[in-house]
Amino acid sequence: MREYFKKRYEFRCAKCNKVQWAKPSMSMTEFGRNSGHGRCTYCDTFLHLEIEGDLCGETMVSIIWEDFLKTIKIERPTQSSSIKKKVNK
Ligand SMILES: [Zn+2]
Repeated sequence: MREYFKKRYEFRCAKCNKVQWAKPSMSMTEFGRNSGHGRCTYCDTFLHLEIEGDLCGETMVSIIWEDFLKTIKIERPTQSSSIKKKVNK
C-alpha cells in the first residue's frame, strides 16, 4: 500500500470543468481504496473522486456520481439472480 499521500489533490469538475482541490478520503489513506466523493464548490454537482494512476498520480479525476454508479452496477451481480439461488435451495 502507498504510504505517502499529498494533503490536497487538484481536480477538475466533471460537469463545469472548474479547477479545485480535494483531500484524499479515509478509504484512500486508511484502506488503499481509490474512491472518494465530494461536491463541486462551483456548480454543487456531487462527484466521485479518485486519484490518477491507481493512487500514485498527482491529481484526482472526477466522475459525476450518477455516471459512476452506472459503472458499478455492471460489475455487481443482479439482485434477481441471487434470489433465484435461494429459491432453488
Ligand atoms: Zn462543477
